Amino acid sequence: MSGYRAEGVVLRTRPLGEADLVVTLYTAEEGKVEAVARGGRRLRSRLLGCIQPFSHGRYLLWRGRTLDSLSQGELVRSFRELREDLLRMACASYLAELVDGLTPEREPSGAIFSLLLEGWGFLAASPPETNLLLNGVSVFELRLLNILGYAPQLWQCLSCKTAEEGEWYFGIRTGGVLCARCASQDETARPLSGETLGGLRQLAGAPLARAGVLRLSPGARTEMRELLKEYIVYRAERELKSAGFLDLVRG
Ligand SMILES: [Zn+2]
Repeated sequence: MSGYRAEGVVLRTRPLGEADLVVTLYTAEEGKVEAVARGGRRLRSRLLGCIQPFSHGRYLLWRGRTLDSLSQGELVRSFRELREDLLRMACASYLAELVDGLTPEREPSGAIFSLLLEGWGFLAASPPETNLLLNGVSVFELRLLNILGYAPQLWQCLSCKTAEEGEWYFGIRTGGVLCARCASQDETARPLSGETLGGLRQLAGAPLARAGVLRLSPGARTEMRELLKEYIVYRAERELKSAGFLDLVRG
């Protein structure tokens, strides 16, 4: 076994046996990694402080045949604020689940690591106000899709390239907007209101700090959340558990 050091964040944990914990980390150096923290479920574990969900730390790991082992950790930031409010926690879990669900193991991306830190930093520093935090989540989704090469086309019809004002559809399979004439080419195309399209255009490429500026009607908010979720699930090819959790909290 060989040891390595990595700076990472805890995406999630799951129990293993009576005392151990499997920690899923997203690290700057190695990308997504699963590692066993021996005795990590014991209250007196010296790792306890740096293996809580959302923890940002520097870790010493050992490569294993299936799972790595996490032997030491030093906390950089606990992101405690994310665990103290239900809405913040739901949003932060969702961001973690997105990164977990959309990234393969051991494919490091400095951009994704930084985006996650920025996203959690935004959630931790913002007042727990639904409109603000959900806009932040949408900005995060669009930026993550962009990094992964799945940025939706929002400005012109994917098929005929028209940008004229009119009735728009969103093609989940084709990955962007389609005009009324071309919508039938994508069986997953769904109608898209002008307000939702305007909101998506404002949030795509916007910094998280601008997330509070956009005000959406409840209908457009729901439409945007569902559309992005459906598009992401299509890309992730699996259900994202926290997306349902977020809806529960929001409802
Ligand atoms: Zn068209």
